[in-house]
Amino acid sequence: MNTLYRPELLYSKGGFVTNGEVLVNENGQILEPSKEIEPPSTRIVDLPGKALLPGFVNAHSHSFQRLIRGKAESRVVSGKDFWSWRGTMYHAANQLDPLDVYDVARMAFLEMVLSGTTTVGEFHYLHNAPNGQPYDDPNLLSKQVIAAAQSVGLRIVLLRTAYLRSGYDLPLDRGQLRFFESTSAFLKNTNALTSYYSTASSNVRFGVAPHSIRAVPLSDLKEIAAWTREKQLPLHMHVAEQIAENAACLREYGLTPVELLNRERILGSDFTAVHAIHINANEISMIADADATICSCPTTERNLGDGIIAADDVMRAGICVALGSDSQAQIDPLEDARQLDYHLRLEHEERAILDQIASKRIASRLFDCATLHGARALALPAGDLSAGSFADFFTVDLNDVSIAGHSAEDLLPILVFSLNRSAIRDVVANGRFILRDQKHTLRDEIISRYKEVHRRVWHNE
Ligand SMILES: [Zn+2]
Repeated sequence: MNTLYRPELLYSKGGFVTNGEVLVNENGQILEPSKEIEPPSTRIVDLPGKALLPGFVNAHSHSFQRLIRGKAESRVVSGKDFWSWRGTMYHAANQLDPLDVYDVARMAFLEMVLSGTTTVGEFHYLHNAPNGQPYDDPNLLSKQVIAAAQSVGLRIVLLRTAYLRSGYDLPLDRGQLRFFESTSAFLKNTNALTSYYSTASSNVRFGVAPHSIRAVPLSDLKEIAAWTREKQLPLHMHVAEQIAENAACLREYGLTPVELLNRERILGSDFTAVHAIHINANEISMIADADATICSCPTTERNLGDGIIAADDVMRAGICVALGSDSQAQIDPLEDARQLDYHLRLEHEERAILDQIASKRIASRLFDCATLHGARALALPAGDLSAGSFADFFTVDLNDVSIAGHSAEDLLPILVFSLNRSAIRDVVANGRFILRDQKHTLRDEIISRYKEVHRRVWHNE
């Protein structure tokens, strides 16, 4: 049976319309609106007092890092920069058994759902047992993360990650033993994983993620990229997050990461450069010319002190910017969206810097980053409410204190700059309610199991 959703306000092309409707079929796909809709052949879901918007697409997540929230905010424990922060992150990664990986991922994914997210791109590099040996099933931990998303109801694109070395001219870091595979094992395991799940599934999809230039030497990167393109999967990679990473690449290849990726034709419309903070005008042109996407993770980047992406230059070049919650320091897609502009405001001492680029309003542009551009990075028909898209959306309570008092014209800027999670009422993914009136059926169980893992890892109980 089809379902017709009738909200008070419906998101449409950067604004809202009254009396709009969304028709969804049994397979969780949005249909063209039809005039002959009558019960009992169509189920009607009235949503008075609510606005309905496309669900957020989180294009870059490491779900297990939810466990280090608040644990690395001390210079005594975690040092002063990204490189020393990794010590805390590796410590957490090495404590988790397969069931823990599932429980921590469910906690991160639950919070994503509560924030209006309907799809996660999980950049997954936790493969081995803590001693560095593969499990009997080398994809065990990938399957645990996928099962976690399925349990919570979130659509997942598992970006299986290749991690081959600690870095150029660096000794092996034992904190990374769970990440390492050879290139041949990586390709064999990734192939086995994608074959294990039905190719027709719209809830579980795949991509390939060479971790970074630092972790994947060029010859292996070329082999992995060629394999990925043959399989027509999205290709993601951390790029230019830290200046030291660019400097090491210059030492090894005489080129920056973007220059190297450009020379080797690894940039392309199927490529997503995660972070892309430390890039110059020439490198921005290379990414734009290749029609690649940039995935920015501003709440993580400010937490890690990574730097500020030149979102104005990037957007002026026509590059699509997607968003990711990355380290899970905070899970709030619109906070990531607004920080793209807020960081530039602090830097330039001006306001609304991303407004009117290519004549587009800032709120609409930032909302697209959190929806359509994430879907583009993950190669999914999602991020809007057009016919043929996945039926992935959420509703907001128009009387919530954070957004009450609006017109259809100014509701989007109010949401983008001021929405509090308390306003998010329902979340539908693949045509199915996964949050209804702020209730998730597994919420208490997920939280209590997560707290057990947290106690064990941090308090040795
Ligand atoms: Zn990352």
